[in-house]
Amino acid sequence: MATHTTKMLIIGSGPAGLSAAIYGARAGMQPIVVQGLQPGGQLTITTDVENYPGFRDVIQGPWLMQEMQAQAEHVGTRMLWDTITEVDLSGPPFRAVGDSGDIYEGETLVIATGAQAKWLGAPGEQEFSGKGVSACATCDGFFYRGKKVVVIGGGNTAVEEALYLTNHSQDVTLIHRRDSLRAEKILQDRLFAHPNIKVLWNKGVERFVGDGGLTGVKLKDTVTGETTVEPADGAFVAIGHAPATELFKGKLELDGGGYIVVEAGTPKTAIPGVFACGDVMDHTYRQAVTAAGTGCMAALDAERFLAEREFAARG
Ligand code: FAD
Ligand code: NAP
Repeated sequence: MATHTTKMLIIGSGPAGLSAAIYGARAGMQPIVVQGLQPGGQLTITTDVENYPGFRDVIQGPWLMQEMQAQAEHVGTRMLWDTITEVDLSGPPFRAVGDSGDIYEGETLVIATGAQAKWLGAPGEQEFSGKGVSACATCDGFFYRGKKVVVIGGGNTAVEEALYLTNHSQDVTLIHRRDSLRAEKILQDRLFAHPNIKVLWNKGVERFVGDGGLTGVKLKDTVTGETTVEPADGAFVAIGHAPATELFKGKLELDGGGYIVVEAGTPKTAIPGVFACGDVMDHTYRQAVTAAGTGCMAALDAERFLAEREFAARG
């Protein structure tokens, strides 16, 4: 069991945490990033990224995150493989305990724990998890080569998953509970133009059905109430993500959706020296570039916090 100390402790290694690390390291704060179960964050489970500035051609999400990590390390960040299970925000120093038993202490704390995939909670979802039900097409799509798959959801993730799955399957169905999508228009255009994708509108999932493995999805029409079974070998749940804020319940103010509340237009929480950035505090934009932007802001504010404290201590 070791104790790691730093001027800037960052929990999370997605675009927010790594951008905070790049700025923090360049400001001499020798940041530590605790990476968590998904090093690189959500972009590591996607393929094409074409809206992150600086790249004329389409880039790959995992590649982008490797580059961000390499840049953070290059300027002096220490990346540590651990998952934080407990935090004490009564500092500074702020204290975090890792799954490994190691203790992390930061004069400032940057929370960049992002978000995790949501599940429907319908019967059969857990039973067939890994046996037909998945929340990641880029991870599991390969297993459905030549088979029939469905995607549930109507946002960017669902549409991207459906488009991605056409690399493996000629029979992809998008199931959405309403009669219009919330995905960006450019993605909708691609979806509707694709000959191997059909859309089932106004359908909610009643249950996942099968015998050993998934064979279909029982649907209920949200307008007529009629029930049908859509045959499927694979079902991809893509209904969004929930912020990873379990650790901070009762310690920081959370909004109705579970996101960390920050001072408007800043990454400042109600505790001086504790900052939140990226998807964990942003229920509106939730993009890699906005996560990186707020990560930068968190590092700049952390630096200011330390400088002001030092100035005050000098009298
Ligand atoms: P995340 O990327 O969610 O990273 C969170 C980090 O926190 C992870 O490293 C995790 O391991 C860590 N963590 C969590 N809990 C703990 C803990 N207890 N201890 C230690 N570490 C912890 N955005 C775009 O701009 N363009 C796209 O093309 C795009 N495509 C996407 C495709 C998919 C399939 C998905 C799911 C999202 C996509 N997004 C895209 C959104 C983008 O990925 C997110 O907005 C961005 O990753 C958020 O960054 P973040 O750093 O806030 O959090
Ligand atoms: P999202 O935008 O929140 O969309 C979630 C979708 O799932 C919505 O269509 C919603 O339906 C549906 N849904 C939610 N709960 C449901 C339930 N219980 N049963 C059935 N359907 C349900 O989530 P997202 O698509 O994961 O996107 C999250 C963020 O990441 C967004 O900001 C998005 O822009 C970003 N992102 C960007 C890209 C990109 O830029 N290329 C790619 C992926 C994600 P309703 O529409 O009826 O609410």
